[in-house]
Amino acid sequence: MLQLLYDNYEKHQLKKFMQADDITYLKQAIANSRKSKEQGNFPAGAIVVNDGKILASEISSPYPGLFHADSKAVTQAFKNAGVLTGATLYIGLESCLMCIGVAYWSGLRRIVYAVPKTKVSGSYYETPQDTNKLLQTFNEKLETTHITELEQEALKVIKEWEKQHES
Ligand SMILES: [Zn+2]
Repeated sequence: MLQLLYDNYEKHQLKKFMQADDITYLKQAIANSRKSKEQGNFPAGAIVVNDGKILASEISSPYPGLFHADSKAVTQAFKNAGVLTGATLYIGLESCLMCIGVAYWSGLRRIVYAVPKTKVSGSYYETPQDTNKLLQTFNEKLETTHITELEQEALKVIKEWEKQHES
């Protein structure tokens, strides 16, 4: 009984520790989103982390284009470190299907984001529909984590960008 309590406590502490890390890294991805916006690009920024080491840190290339921040970060991390087993992708705005595909084929199995696609225009994606069900059918599980604490901070950058691009 005591052992069980202790195990649960350990897991709880570990989870808290991981969440603190997630928040730190996700904040860096959001800072990249801001940087991307300030350079006139779509407000997406991403970083890839493995074992506490940042393997890549990227912003979007000019829109419209193939080079989304998340695809760029994963590609750069792959170039630096090879197959990304155990790595995590941090991105302000939930990834599109292309970037999820790039992440999957890099060997990465965890994506952490702040803003779900349902909170922004569906035109930013291939489809406005929720693609989480599709993820659940992948041969190997790709875990996605939504950090609600940072949603407003990340959404703010997107709203500012939208305001600048209103016609
Ligand atoms: Zn994308």
